[in-house]
Amino acid sequence: MSDLNTQAVARYKNNFLREVEERVEEGNMVKMCMQCGVCAGSCPFGPHWQHSPQKIFMMIRAGKREELLTSDSMWMCTSCYNCIVRCPRKLPITHIIHGLANYAHRLKLVPKGQPTRDVTKLFWDNLMKVGRINELTFSLALYFKDGLVQGIKNSLAMQSAGLGLLKAGRLNPMEIFGGHKCKEQSGIHRMIAKAREIEDGRRGLLA
Ligand code: SF4
Ligand code: SF4
Repeated sequence: MSDLNTQAVARYKNNFLREVEERVEEGNMVKMCMQCGVCAGSCPFGPHWQHSPQKIFMMIRAGKREELLTSDSMWMCTSCYNCIVRCPRKLPITHIIHGLANYAHRLKLVPKGQPTRDVTKLFWDNLMKVGRINELTFSLALYFKDGLVQGIKNSLAMQSAGLGLLKAGRLNPMEIFGGHKCKEQSGIHRMIAKAREIEDGRRGLLA
């Protein structure tokens, strides 16, 4: 178990609802769910979730901590907001689902190789280097994340899309040498570090 996870287990014992209320974005709204099932029925990805949003809220109240935080259900949300506009209790369902995914990531409980988490982390790491996304190095990092052979296969499979982007001027091979950068990169890094310190302090996640 990661240190943060060990600390959380010791701190909250079996009170998973309180843990979510204190540590997950908008988690204080989970108790408002009346289990009507509208969100589960409205979600376009409903049949593909191991645990629907309705079930996720039930599991939080039932204390099924490990089962939920180690599942990949929260990573299925596409932020379409269908559930939010239909929920009779006006729960910010999308935000809570993403908050749970972020919390599972911070506790290092996400299943290994979870694709949405992997893409999100590659995107964030790429963005944080120089303050803007480098499309070429991001694409290469994504294609080659599972090794050289798989990377070559992925690149060949996507070659027509890559050529189309090149022709349209949306992909610049010279970006491999660094590409565009924000002027004040150290300022961006300081701003993000400060925002993280404030948010982690608010959520009790400072190590
Ligand atoms: S639609 Fe709202 S109240 Fe109904 S189950 Fe989903 S979150 Fe709960
Ligand atoms: S926002 Fe996410 S959870 Fe809500 S309906 Fe869309 S995909 Fe499903």
